[in-house]
Amino acid sequence: MKVYKFGGTSVGTPDRMKHVAKLITADNEKKIIVLSAISGTTNTLVEIGDLFRLGNIDGALARLEELRATYDPFIQSLLTEASNKKIAFKIVNQYFDEMHRLIHQPFYNQILKIIVVNGELISTHLFQTYLNEKHPGHSVLIPAAEFMYLNESEEPNMALISAKLESLLNQNTNYELFVTQGFICRNCSGGIDNLNRGGSDYSATIMGAALNVKEIQIWTDIDGMHNNDPRIVDNTKPISNLSFEEAGELAYFGAKILHPTCIIPAQQFDIPVRIKNTMKPFAYGTLITSNQNPETVKAIAAKDGITAIKIKSSRMILAYGFLRKVFEVFEQYQTPIDMITTSEIAVSITIDDPKFLEQIIQDLQKYGKVEVDVNQTIICIVGDMVAEQKGISSEIFKALEEIPIRMISYGGSRNNISLLVKNNLKEKTLKSLNSHLFNL
Ligand code: ASP
Repeated sequence: MKVYKFGGTSVGTPDRMKHVAKLITADNEKKIIVLSAISGTTNTLVEIGDLFRLGNIDGALARLEELRATYDPFIQSLLTEASNKKIAFKIVNQYFDEMHRLIHQPFYNQILKIIVVNGELISTHLFQTYLNEKHPGHSVLIPAAEFMYLNESEEPNMALISAKLESLLNQNTNYELFVTQGFICRNCSGGIDNLNRGGSDYSATIMGAALNVKEIQIWTDIDGMHNNDPRIVDNTKPISNLSFEEAGELAYFGAKILHPTCIIPAQQFDIPVRIKNTMKPFAYGTLITSNQNPETVKAIAAKDGITAIKIKSSRMILAYGFLRKVFEVFEQYQTPIDMITTSEIAVSITIDDPKFLEQIIQDLQKYGKVEVDVNQTIICIVGDMVAEQKGISSEIFKALEEIPIRMISYGGSRNNISLLVKNNLKEKTLKSLNSHLFNL
């Protein structure tokens, strides 16, 4: 058994959906097919939810009807048989009618959660109807809401997911393809919930881990994780092999191709993850496994919107307990820290969520002078390398000769060197590191 996940652009047009159907039926291996919503749908559902929350019922309904209308030509060109078109229209209209009804209810937060998952419900039903038309009796739809459960800490309840998913598969042993929704889950109270934006990758790795499958494939619109940001740097290349640690660092520090948390279940259960390009299925893509490939620097990624906070205090000298007090402030405001560097009289910390910045600054002022720099970017150099590999750091410093660096974090793990620069220096930094580290 394998898990294949297709993102929104991979199922974004009727032709692409047909192409996905061809890909998954190319061999007879049993597969779980996890789909995202058709691209653009979730964004529109979020907009509709916002209009509803703000009390603009007419606006929400108008937007809903616009979205409904986009599905008419989609169904017309996806399906051939009149009877299948009828089934598809009926299903899609049921979902839209239900959203219409909800928007007439008094507002409460749970309605937003119910609305936002409709994209995946619709895409999987349409895809399943198409599969039935082309390969009757091959596939079955298994609703994610019947097995994808979170626990009290909002983490996947792996034991329950395994048991429920296995039982669903055992009830359907005649089928080869099991189509299901990414993104959708139930929280510990049983209510419909989701795994956050982009969470379908996470759905796929949770399912793969729960069933201990041979491989999880994430099919997207690029031929693997690239060694630098292809939107900024020319001639980037896909990376053939990455370790879980490297992929995790890259996903967290800016490579948009994977949802950052999705590596965790795969790593925990040691299940290979392969990133593939739906439009170039024969390209190797990127294979992520527990193997460390001592290949020095693999990739560079950037994460924007970073705030740096410096706390300067002579009380740090020869003192202990100072850092604990500083960290407790961030803990109190549930604000994760990305980078940290210290000297004997100051500590610099970065955060990417400035929601409680004012309160954090106020509390930190008890311990020293606080300085804040906004609009910073973390540049992360990832690989299996660093301390042991002579020469890499000198290449990095050569590349940075002309670039003012606000912070450097080196040696925290063997997989990552992080730098903090002003956002307007990001492009220059990425390009300069690229030419020094990848000899382009
Ligand atoms: N449809 C959801 C989103 O757009 C989940 C996903 O596609 O991964 O965020």
